Amino acid sequence: MTARQEPLRPEVRGVSLVAGEERPGDGPPFVAIDPTTEAALDPTFRPAAAADIDDAVEAADRAFRSAELHPWLTVGLLNTTADLLEEAADTVISVCDSETALGQPRLRSELARTSGQLRFLADVAASGERLDAAIDGPRPAATPPAPDVRRVGLPIGPVAVFGASNFPLAFGVLGGDTSSALAAGCPVVAKAHPAHPGTSELCGRILTEAVARHGLDPGWFSLVQGAGPEVGQRLVGASGVRAVGFTGSSQAGQALVDVARQRAQPIPVYAEMGSVNPTFVSARAIRRRGQALAAELVEAITMGSGQFCTKPGLVFVPDGPEGDELAAAMATELGERPATPLLTPAIRDALQQRVGAVSRVPEVGIIGVQPEPEGTGLRAPGSLLSTDLDALRGAPQLVDELFGPAAVVVRCPEDEMVRAADVVDGSLTGSVYLEPEDRGWGRALLVELQRRCGRIIVDGVPTGVRVSRAMHHGGPFPATSTPLHTSVGAASLDRWLRPVSYQNTPNELLPPALQDENPLGILRRVDGVLTEAPLPSADETGS
Ligand code: NAP
Repeated sequence: MTARQEPLRPEVRGVSLVAGEERPGDGPPFVAIDPTTEAALDPTFRPAAAADIDDAVEAADRAFRSAELHPWLTVGLLNTTADLLEEAADTVISVCDSETALGQPRLRSELARTSGQLRFLADVAASGERLDAAIDGPRPAATPPAPDVRRVGLPIGPVAVFGASNFPLAFGVLGGDTSSALAAGCPVVAKAHPAHPGTSELCGRILTEAVARHGLDPGWFSLVQGAGPEVGQRLVGASGVRAVGFTGSSQAGQALVDVARQRAQPIPVYAEMGSVNPTFVSARAIRRRGQALAAELVEAITMGSGQFCTKPGLVFVPDGPEGDELAAAMATELGERPATPLLTPAIRDALQQRVGAVSRVPEVGIIGVQPEPEGTGLRAPGSLLSTDLDALRGAPQLVDELFGPAAVVVRCPEDEMVRAADVVDGSLTGSVYLEPEDRGWGRALLVELQRRCGRIIVDGVPTGVRVSRAMHHGGPFPATSTPLHTSVGAASLDRWLRPVSYQNTPNELLPPALQDENPLGILRRVDGVLTEAPLPSADETGS
């Protein structure tokens, strides 16, 4: 990369970007919608043509095959992408706000998280920590004799990435799936989200520029536009794609799992989908800080218009005066927060339809609503519903995600909450509010929650996902399609690293991570012991 470059001034031109080339696409035109007015935004986009998708995948495959399999290949690329994203922040945020109405403060914070995530994953790649390099030396005298075996994770190949509407930056084109796939050494073909095609194009231009500045093959990154399942399904069906990272609805995630399964050579789809995030509150916690809890919970239910995969969607409260007090305080809090726009007409319509259907279930009532929105735009007032444990057990639709500013309060005897956790399917998170005297109850609840959730939170709401080594953002189905993996944090690389063992392989034929001298200086498990030390030479061992 040359030392000084002109500042990047990306523009939205309404195109796909295939290996560095602009492609106008074909098929029915579409536009983004301003959620505050429902007005169409310029420019008009067209879905990527079949040939564009095929070219993008072929270019990614070529780039992958011709690249040196060095784990640090893309570290500089990720850091440069983070720098360019920050340089272009004003443009990206302005376009993104017009397409999402999520607001400048939220989008500035999301952009900082996204550039931080790019740099964090560059550091993770540089450390070699996810390669899980292991060396088991030969044991010729053992019974049976054991050969020299060495294992390391190698990049799986081109990855198709689908971002969600509700995190246009952190889970978008430059989000965790793209950055972790690149960090693992895999080229990316990203499908732009039709709710924010302009933001997607800007992010795509930033990564395209970073690829060029590093002199990498342009096939390392492509972006295909689309509004409708055809583009995404063709991409996942393309034989050069080796894995899929998806964030979005359960319906779309499962459709893509099916496409991947029906391929001649099926591939893994890591789909992060919706979640109800059960939250349990003890009577003591309500007695000591009920008002603060009500404010905290309602803030988490309504922030970003409730369009968070980590929104607390089912809140279990004790069926008694404390539970009634918390439910009433939450209803009051909700009534004081004006409705904010939703992201798309489809999300608004689905929310209204689902809240209507759930509220018609016997023993379910609406106990709080946001004030009727004024003016135009994709607004739908949020609602707080209430029911009891028996009704919840009898109506599985109550345990499905309500995407938007809505939640269900479940009245339940406190000593039955542990068994009530049974009702909930796999979830990204589970939260418990308790006081020190509630620890026995809390411990039993945590045991239940850890069976079905990816992250347990004590005394806090689940919104806000830290990008770090210890983070797990995943969970059993239906929260994800693969319960073993996370889409956030250092371990997100594991989805794109395919382990390979080498047996009795001469040193110079091994990947650098496994060579005797440890030329990368990474931590490896040698005969069971974690060490950065090179293997002793033949002279030192006397063999
Ligand atoms: P979405 O409608 O599923 O869209 C996601 C992507 O999938 C888009 O690119 C969409 O584009 C594509 N798609 C939709 N249906 C498809 C199909 N049948 N075949 C192929 N591709 C298809 O989801 P969304 O509205 O953006 O996101 C909301 C959901 O995401 C919520 O459920 C939320 O909880 C979840 N979410 C989860 C996480 C997490 O980390 N677990 C994070 C954020 C959001 P096209 O319409 O052009 O096909």
